Amino acid sequence: MTVKPHCITAADIAKAAEILQNHAIRTPVMTSRQADEIAGAQLFFKCENFQRIGAFKFRGAYNAISQLAPAQRQAGVIAFSSGNHAQAMALAARELGVNVTIVMPHDAPAAKLAATRGYGANVVIYQRQTEDREAITQRLAAEQGLTVIPPYDYPQVMAGQGTAAKELIEEVGPLDILLVCTGGGGLLSGCAIAAHHWSPGCRVFGVEPEAGNDVQQAFRSGEKVWIPVPKTIADGAQTQQVGNLTFPIIQHYVEDILTVTDQQLCQQMRFFMERMKIVVEPTGCLAAAAAMNQVIDLRGKKVGVIVSGGNVDVDKIGQYLAMAQN
Ligand SMILES: *Cc1c(COP(=O)(O)O)cnc(C)c1O
Repeated sequence: MTVKPHCITAADIAKAAEILQNHAIRTPVMTSRQADEIAGAQLFFKCENFQRIGAFKFRGAYNAISQLAPAQRQAGVIAFSSGNHAQAMALAARELGVNVTIVMPHDAPAAKLAATRGYGANVVIYQRQTEDREAITQRLAAEQGLTVIPPYDYPQVMAGQGTAAKELIEEVGPLDILLVCTGGGGLLSGCAIAAHHWSPGCRVFGVEPEAGNDVQQAFRSGEKVWIPVPKTIADGAQTQQVGNLTFPIIQHYVEDILTVTDQQLCQQMRFFMERMKIVVEPTGCLAAAAAMNQVIDLRGKKVGVIVSGGNVDVDKIGQYLAMAQN
């Protein structure tokens, strides 16, 4: 077996933290006595639902655009996303005075299209059924000299996301366990390196939706797998394959990948609203749901839980809360 080198180190995360200072929000860490009782552990929730654009993705986007060469910044950046990465790129680029193009599907929610345009991004629409978004992105990038910044498989994106765990450990001290919401593994890889460095001995777990466990399958088999678009309410974790850059880091620094069901996500969303008075999107509930459903034994441990985002379609909240009861 050949050992693949890791594309980032703790030094990259420390540098990202400096870049993000005064630009990203140092999000609050919340606790709940009731949550601790249910989990049988001491839980520290790092609330990225309070981050700019409502999710941690602002960290990676801002760090990545900041570190481009002047000529690249001059030419502009491009990303494909219908989710939180689109808004993160749009806002970060605007703040840094960089032109940004976002490639979005024709059926993206109107609110997301409007928000992305509202930040000043140039939005290019494609037909989900007939066009390939990566091909469109690559063509536009080549034609216009734009730099492609993907949502997770990019070193300075991964380093930026790792600052969430760094801040959490700075605030509450060393952890026994860290639980991280996982889609393509950008947040998990960055946070795992941060935990390994700033809280040596901390055991790190990723948490995916049960229906979309591509990272779990890859982790357990040692080979990347590709899955069809999973049916889950965790829309930020509907990735079909772990990243080329994130996977070797996850293999090296992460102990295991856990899963939770959509119903557990709904129950967790309900707990966050009812007990802690915070709005968390389904994907943002992944790590917390694993903690509160004893998916692994946390008894007596000091546990960090990344709450990754809060961008839920408000009209759908009633439906989710109803699902929690079945
Ligand atoms: C993107 C996203 C994730 C997954 O992050 P990856 O870096 O792709 O693993 C989790 N939660 C939210 C809210 C997201 O927007």
